[in-house]
Amino acid sequence: MTINEFGWETFECFLEGMDRQLNFDPRTIGRVAQVQRDLFGVICEAGYLWCELTGKLRHEVENSVELPVVGDWVELSPPFTDAGGEWSALITGVLPRRSFLARGGHARGTQVLAANVDRVMVVMSANLDFKVNRLDRYMALAAAGNCDAALVLSKADLHPHMEELVSQVKARHPDLPVFVTSVVSQTGLKELAESLLPEKAYTFVGSSGVGKSSLVNFMMGREVLAVSGIREDDDKGRHTTTHREMVKLESGALLVDTPGLRAVGLVDEDEALEATFGQLHELGQRCKFRDCTHDTEPGCAVRAALESGELDPQTWESYDKLKREQAFELRKQDKAMAANHKKHWKTITQNWRVRKKHEGR
Ligand code: GDP
Ligand code: ZN
Repeated sequence: MTINEFGWETFECFLEGMDRQLNFDPRTIGRVAQVQRDLFGVICEAGYLWCELTGKLRHEVENSVELPVVGDWVELSPPFTDAGGEWSALITGVLPRRSFLARGGHARGTQVLAANVDRVMVVMSANLDFKVNRLDRYMALAAAGNCDAALVLSKADLHPHMEELVSQVKARHPDLPVFVTSVVSQTGLKELAESLLPEKAYTFVGSSGVGKSSLVNFMMGREVLAVSGIREDDDKGRHTTTHREMVKLESGALLVDTPGLRAVGLVDEDEALEATFGQLHELGQRCKFRDCTHDTEPGCAVRAALESGELDPQTWESYDKLKREQAFELRKQDKAMAANHKKHWKTITQNWRVRKKHEGR
């Protein structure tokens, strides 16, 4: 097993571009393929090792978003044999992320689900419920983490006019790659599989029931090559589950499949919204007032564009709705944070009272 098969070469180029000091010893570099609480399944030249963080790293990590997640590149101590005679290593550092997928996006609310994903495969079912607005959310999510995106229109067997859906999508996102698939009529599966390139990492996201598992199972079943070196009969019972979060397909493509990712939902990052709605962002900058809400302010470029037909009212509505949802999410998170502070404070005062009581005796 070499780390190049898991995308190290491309990643090293990225680090070079960041002007990072490049004196890595390939033997002390690994990629996180699985996380089980504070144990990390790491692919490295020595094989598949279960690693812990060094105490120093654990202390240095100030925010949970800095902890290694599936897909992260990490620096390792030289591998050693642990008390049980198994090879292991310690994670001494997490390398900068080229891309990530996160839920939340707001201060402490952010949860990073996967790192260094090359392309997010957004799965949407081609049934009557298809809404192109939903796609915008997922694209925003991908853009927020600097990931490329593609659309899989699944269950094509259920829709008689797929070309209509495709043109709806293309009208809004002309550059987005679109795959039309069905596991029932076996449509488009080969094209989809062939689009997954060696050493690149992919992940499938979308609402539940759209057919993600069916697609992933197809890819795995047909050409699965488990990450070699995983011991499935560990006597410590540590990794008796054979569930792996990053696997290499026979084609050499990497599939990242964490449970959290499959259900990933709403995005609430301004930046992300703006990446998706570039046109709106540009328009907004032409408004007379910097903080224009595009409501009744004079000199509003957005309303002018809506009136002239330059701006599609549906795009605007979709954006406006997302913005409002975002504001709602932020308020909710603020409330949760405030409640947390209160709880924390309560514990502190309680401890203090207990101490006082002891001292009083
Ligand atoms: P997930 O929740 O996104 O992982 O979706 P699943 O893969 O579990 O699929 C949900 C349901 O849709 C299951 O009943 C599948 O059998 C069905 N399904 C999946 N793919 C297709 C398809 O291409 N065509 C049709 N008609 N049904 C499908
Ligand atoms: Zn305006």
